[in-house]
Parts: sequence; structure tokens; C-alpha cells
Amino acid sequence: MTTEYSSAQLMSLAERGMLDKTQLADLLPEEPRSAFLAACAEVEREFTHDCAADGETCLPAGCALEGESCLNALLAAAPEYNKACGRLWLPLFRSSKHTA
Ligand SMILES: [Zn+2]
Repeated sequence: MTTEYSSAQLMSLAERGMLDKTQLADLLPEEPRSAFLAACAEVEREFTHDCAADGETCLPAGCALEGESCLNALLAAAPEYNKACGRLWLPLFRSSKHTA
């Protein structure tokens, strides 16, 4: 991803949940990127679990994607989900900058 933001600005945006997972992943070199995406998948499973937790699932018959990631749950949780991914991303981004 080409960006006009500095590293400090990117970290601030990520912290505030203003960058989504794809944007964050694009900012990482290949190796931490796969670790980052794996960590995000864990977060997605947690949010997906939450979709059914309050008895209000995204579909009347139940959550559309139980056991995997529920897009509806992620959209509903969007700022929190982006922030959670941002928290996972920050240390990876920092260390990739230090070694670059
Ligand atoms: Zn759902």
C-alpha cells in the first residue's frame, strides 16, 4: 500500500481503529503479516462467538457462520474489531520498522 502517512500517524490511526485488517496487513512485511492475520482470525472467532452470545444472531435461524468468522458480527463490532486488530498489529509494525 502506498501511503502519505508517516509511521507515527499510521500507528495512531491503527490504535483508534481507523484502519481495517486489510490495510494493516498491507503495511507489514510478509512474515509478520501471516502472524498478524492468524492473530486476527482468533479475534474474529471471538467476535463471531459474541454474535450468538446475546441470543440475537444475525439470521433468525442462527449465526450465518458459526465456528468461522461472522461478517455481520464483525461489521457490528467494527470499531472495536479494528482496534483489536490494531493492538495486535502495533508491535509487529514497530519491530518491522526497527529491523528494516
Ligand atoms: Zn452472526
